[in-house]
Amino acid sequence: MRRVIARDRAELAGDFCRGCGYCLPCPAGIPISQAARMSLLLRRTLVSRFLTDEWKRDMAKIRECQKCGHCREQCPDELDTPSLFKMMLADYEEFLEKLPQD
Ligand code: SF4
Ligand code: SF4
Repeated sequence: MRRVIARDRAELAGDFCRGCGYCLPCPAGIPISQAARMSLLLRRTLVSRFLTDEWKRDMAKIRECQKCGHCREQCPDELDTPSLFKMMLADYEEFLEKLPQD
């Protein structure tokens, strides 16, 4: 139990996006409220939902971030979303690479 609590604390503290959506809309069309917590969604929810072509396209939109600052200004937790996205996209692509090929 302590191990589970320690893991939850590490994963859900710090740059943790609560998915509130106050940062939306994004002019680049990035689904921020999910993209900013993709690492957790991949590991704590039904992963197949996030492996579709549509989600691959949505995650790739992170590269189109215009750095307008809107999401950062609106985030109640003052998350540095553009930086967070870089980590989320790198993790997402690494996750895809490690999947067994059919
Ligand atoms: S900084 Fe990037 S992710 Fe945030 S709202 Fe602007 S374009 Fe979208
Ligand atoms: S406002 Fe902040 S916490 Fe809420 S969805 Fe956007 S990035 Fe996540």
